[in-house]
Amino acid sequence: MALLFDPPQNPTYLADDVIAGVCADPGFGKYFTDHMAVANWTAEDGWENDRIVDYSPLTLDPAGAVYHYAQEIFEGLKAYRRADGSVWLFRPEANAARFRNSAVRLALPELPESDFVTSVRQLVALEERWVPSGEEQSLYLRPFMLASESFLGVRPSKRVLYSVIASPVGSYFSGGVAPVDIWVSKEYSRVATGGTGSAKCGGNYASSLLPQELAYAQGCSQVLFVDAAERRWIEELGGMNFFMITSDDQLVTPELNGNILPGVTRDSLLKVAPQLGLTPVERRVSLEEVVTGIGDGTVRELFACGTAAVITPIRSLKDDGHEYVIDVDRATRTLPLRNLLLDIQYGRVDDPFGWTQ
Ligand code: PMP
Repeated sequence: MALLFDPPQNPTYLADDVIAGVCADPGFGKYFTDHMAVANWTAEDGWENDRIVDYSPLTLDPAGAVYHYAQEIFEGLKAYRRADGSVWLFRPEANAARFRNSAVRLALPELPESDFVTSVRQLVALEERWVPSGEEQSLYLRPFMLASESFLGVRPSKRVLYSVIASPVGSYFSGGVAPVDIWVSKEYSRVATGGTGSAKCGGNYASSLLPQELAYAQGCSQVLFVDAAERRWIEELGGMNFFMITSDDQLVTPELNGNILPGVTRDSLLKVAPQLGLTPVERRVSLEEVVTGIGDGTVRELFACGTAAVITPIRSLKDDGHEYVIDVDRATRTLPLRNLLLDIQYGRVDDPFGWTQ
């Protein structure tokens, strides 16, 4: 039976001026709206108990399986307010499909894609007043699912909690889009073949934190991971997919090999690329190829992409003792690509793909 995530009868909210104050300068992931969607799953009865309740702490027994074995997955997508005041989602079905794939890999129950979309739509409708209207602002939605059974045996949990919370977020780049320096981690891997790389599970992010700290220490803002086996093939950043634009107008990104998160932004950019005269290419990309291409000019632009920042231009790649700097004056395609996707998301141009709803 389809889940409904009915809203509460008489929802209460923080005062309008408090919400307006938060939405004026929300930052990222700091403030949360008044309500949350919740559903429970048990091995006996399946999904049930779907509802929207006041935003409140989750109480789990200290033996709750997620605390010990990290059986957990999540998603990230946004609701955008358009100039006419209406609020729109961007490709929620794509996040729903990825959530289902993540669930399979983490031995969690699959939430039907239509139920995922219903939960998000119902929460956004209830929290509409929390969707900010400033430039590149949005309401970030965080669906997640975790093992809630109190049991210390190592096996898939027989009780699971699903929830969606929402957080107003500001523009990723408060002072305009700024190119970033990236640290290439040769010492640490994010994932390995047969691991959980293509799932969006908390453990992947836990293992990326130490290399991320090392990147900060080198003055870099993100880590670029290469494959664990040969340490040669570029995979992705800690929280974004990797792209390059070549001098013959190819938009190239590492192919999905099971180790890379299939980003919704990644997929969307590959699909809109021809509109800007770029040929989308998914294939293996070696670090050596990129470094050589930066030197001889065949690699003209590098960027990272994801829901949070859309596209972040890359200024340089650094590793022990080397720095490979892209001439930012060459970057003529990255920003138009970024603007095109933002224009679709905010409804400023036609949406030929039917991505917005
Ligand atoms: N790779 C990783 C590891 C990520 O965490 C994200 C953010 N979800 C992405 C790529 C980009 O995915 P999306 O475009 O769907 O946000």
